Amino acid sequence: MIAEKSATKPIVACEAEVIEADVAIVGAGLAGSLARAVLARAGYRVILIDKRLIPPDEFRVEKIAGRQIDILRRLGFIDDVEAIAAPYDRVLNIRSGKLVDIGVGRSYGISYANLVNMARGLTPDASSFLLDQVTNVSCSEQRQQLTLASGRRVVSRLVILATGMTNVLGHSLGIRRRMLAARHSVSFGFTIARPDNAPFDFDALTCYGEEATDGVDYLSLFPMSGGMRANLFMFRDPTDPIMRELRRDTRRTLLRLMPGLQPYLGDFEVVGQVQNWVMDLTVTEGHLRPGVVLIGDAFQTNCPAAGTGVGRLLVDVERLCTDYVPRWLETAGMGVDKIAQFYSDRDKLAADQHSLQLASFRQALTLNTDMRWNLRRKLHFLRRMITHRVDRIHPGWVMRVRSALR
Ligand SMILES: Cc1cc2nc3c(=O)[nH]c(=O)nc-3n(C[C@H](O)[C@H](O)[C@H](O)COP(=O)(O)OP(=O)(O)OC[C@H]3O[C@@H](n4cnc5c(N)ncnc54)[C@H](O)[C@@H]3O)c2cc1C
Repeated sequence: MIAEKSATKPIVACEAEVIEADVAIVGAGLAGSLARAVLARAGYRVILIDKRLIPPDEFRVEKIAGRQIDILRRLGFIDDVEAIAAPYDRVLNIRSGKLVDIGVGRSYGISYANLVNMARGLTPDASSFLLDQVTNVSCSEQRQQLTLASGRRVVSRLVILATGMTNVLGHSLGIRRRMLAARHSVSFGFTIARPDNAPFDFDALTCYGEEATDGVDYLSLFPMSGGMRANLFMFRDPTDPIMRELRRDTRRTLLRLMPGLQPYLGDFEVVGQVQNWVMDLTVTEGHLRPGVVLIGDAFQTNCPAAGTGVGRLLVDVERLCTDYVPRWLETAGMGVDKIAQFYSDRDKLAADQHSLQLASFRQALTLNTDMRWNLRRKLHFLRRMITHRVDRIHPGWVMRVRSALR
């Protein structure tokens, strides 16, 4: 939907004490930057504020695949991702040195900093970005106000909080984070290379953990600018000495945890920095307030092993910015009746719930050693191996049986 002409006047000069906009977005990570791109393209006066000019080289999502690609395509951004990401189409899935199956389908490897830079660049109008820290938010049914560290103020009809995992601003509005699982998972990100940069024998590879006691869910290897990237996802106490070993002697510790990897990797070394992250699973409470809406990690955190963070934030951006915001701006006021429509959106609820369910499933599939989960783990991999073998002998047969059973 295209905004009314009256709503498309340029934003009042950024040097001004008070900046006016239809929508003010706090946080220029992936969620906030994409939200600005969608709303600015529709003609709304949008201002995006972030305290950092350059997205830091922090370890976050580094793979785009599946449903994420579908939403990026619908939003019209997939060509922009494709222009800067490393594509791959086949993933060899292994466990204990044996092939489980081969995943086929387009995916992309890209550093988070590059992804965010791309998303920020989707809106060429530099005046819609403010380099500043938002220190206070005050919201009401009519007019929202942001106070910035520089002393400037932003006045808008709607505020979108896309501030990631920090909740400093939400706190002042009475928005709280409820801890679902402290230190739920630990993730490591690093790059590997072969001597003389010889290529690996696969496009991408996933190696699942071998023993429940190791707490390894999987290691994912995929191409990214700069080499073969590795994401290791574990459910294990972050204070366990193995964490230090993984940081200090990554190669040896990896092969000790997953000896079945060796024949697939051959001679290799870890190059550059080893980054790691301990994730708490939290959900937001008290978020139903007039004039303000939370998206992405600001609303709910995600288990990196489940790989649902980007899918969730894309659903948030698509539903909020292509449907609700255009409708809300058509009429006066920004009361909780409007805001509640977004939080009860069917697709959003499903994506948020799926993310939490998958986080518990991955943890239980990795760790749980009771009889039920031992059996479930065996059947999970057995089913995949049988399906793969049948599919190789009779291509398309499994797909036809599945469709017939639906
Ligand atoms: C290790 C790791 C691995 C992951 N792997 C995957 C994966 O494989 N697949 C997947 O889908 N997801 C993954 N995720 C999740 C995914 O990275 C996040 O869901 C996503 O990056 C969230 O983006 P965001 O825009 O909501 O938040 P962020 O990218 O954190 O952006 C928040 C922005 O807000 C700004 N900000 C905050 N407060 C203020 C303020 N007061 N004033 C101004 N600016 C402010 C910050 O500077 C920042 O730029 C992973 C996460 C981690 C930690």
